[in-house]
Amino acid sequence: MRGPRALAVVAVLLLAAGSTAVTEGVPAAAPPADRPCALRAAPGVTMSEGFGGADGRQFARATGEVRALTLLVDFPDKHAPYSAAERYSEFFPAVRHWFYRASYGKLRYVSTPVLRYIRMPKPFQSYGIGRGYGWRTHTAMMRDLLRVADRRIDFSGYDLVNVLVTPNAGPPAEQAVLSVTWTGASAATTDDGTSLDRVSLVYGHDQSGARVLSHENGHAFGLPDLYSVEDFGHTDTLAGQWDSMSLDWGLQGDLFAWHKWRLGWLDDWQVVCVRDPGARSVHLTPVEVPGGRKAAVIPLGRTRAYVVEARATRGNDSEACREGVLVYQVRTDVDSGHGPVTVEDAHPRTTACEYSSATFNALNDAPFSSGGRFTDRARGLTVEVLGRDPDDEGWTVRITTSRPLWDGP
Ligand SMILES: [Zn+2]
Repeated sequence: MRGPRALAVVAVLLLAAGSTAVTEGVPAAAPPADRPCALRAAPGVTMSEGFGGADGRQFARATGEVRALTLLVDFPDKHAPYSAAERYSEFFPAVRHWFYRASYGKLRYVSTPVLRYIRMPKPFQSYGIGRGYGWRTHTAMMRDLLRVADRRIDFSGYDLVNVLVTPNAGPPAEQAVLSVTWTGASAATTDDGTSLDRVSLVYGHDQSGARVLSHENGHAFGLPDLYSVEDFGHTDTLAGQWDSMSLDWGLQGDLFAWHKWRLGWLDDWQVVCVRDPGARSVHLTPVEVPGGRKAAVIPLGRTRAYVVEARATRGNDSEACREGVLVYQVRTDVDSGHGPVTVEDAHPRTTACEYSSATFNALNDAPFSSGGRFTDRARGLTVEVLGRDPDDEGWTVRITTSRPLWDGP
C-alpha cells in the first residue's frame, strides 16, 4: 500500500528527483465542447485524474473483455508453502467479480492462470526487493522470469500480466507492503516480441485480501493512488476509505463515480454537468448499483472540479460505514499519491467505525444525509441534501451556485 506502488517509469525518476506534486505553468487542454465536465489530464502529471492521460496507450482499456495472464512465482530460497491453485484462489474469482460489479458488467475480466509455481532462477534475497523498489529491480526480475517461463508460456494477446508472488517472500504486509504495478514502459520482451509493459505484482497477505489486486490493476487502467505517499497518516484527510485506490482495505471498497466515468463504466448522461449559475435539483442513485444518474460534476476550472455522488451499503460497498451523499474535489494537476482527490467531511469533528482501521477513520462518516449541507462560501456554492427515495435508495440534492464558477472551456 505504501510507497510508489504504481508509477510510470518516467514518474519514478521524476519523483526520485523531488518533482513538485502540483504541476504549475503547464496549461491543461480544455475539455471538448460536448463534454465540458470531462476535464483533461494535465501534462506531466503522474496518472492524472483527467481524461485522456499519457496519450492513452500507456494504460489498459477498462471496458469489454480484459485479458490477464496470471503467473505464480517462488524462489530457490523461498519455496511456496502451499499450492499454486490455493494461492490463485485468494484472488480469483474475487477480482473478476469485483470488477464486474464496479463496472456494472462493462469490464469482463478474464484471467488465464498458469497453475504451478514458476521457480525464479535467483534467490529472493538477491533481488533486493523492498518497499517502493525501483525500475532496475523490476526489469531484472522480469528478464529472469522470461528466462525460465518464456519457452513454455505464450505471453501474447493479454492486456495485462499479474504476478502472484509466494506469500512467504518478503516481510508480512503489515510491516511493509511491496505490491506494485508498472506501466508505461516495457520491462522485458519475450522471444516473440511481446512487451511486459503492464505488470501487477502482489506480495504477501494484505489485510485487503483480493482487493490489493483490484487496486494494482486499477493502476494498469490509469487510476492514481489516492493515499498520501509522503505522509501516509495524512491519507485520513484525503479520500480515507472511500475508494479502493485510497485504502484498499477500507470499508467502502468501491470506486468513486469520477473513476467509473473515466474508465468508461458510466455513460455521459449519467453525469450531470453543472455550469450555469442558479439552483437545480439532481436525483442521484447509489454508485454501487447499476442505472440512473450517478454524479453531479461542478467544474471550477480546467484542472479542478467538485463531484457529488450517493453511496449505499450495496455491492462492493456492502460493508460501508455510512450511507449518504459524498462531496469531493478532484484535481487533474496533482500527481498520484499527493492527493488528487479530497473528500469533504460532513462530520469533521468525529470519526466512525473505528474497528475498521486503527488510524484512518476520520472520513468514514463523511457523507451528508437528509438536511445536510455543504457550502463553499468563497465560490458561492451550496449542495443541500433534500431527501432519500425509498424505492431506488437514491438521494435528491439541490445544487446552488450564485455566480459562474468557470467560464471555460
Ligand atoms: Zn497503488
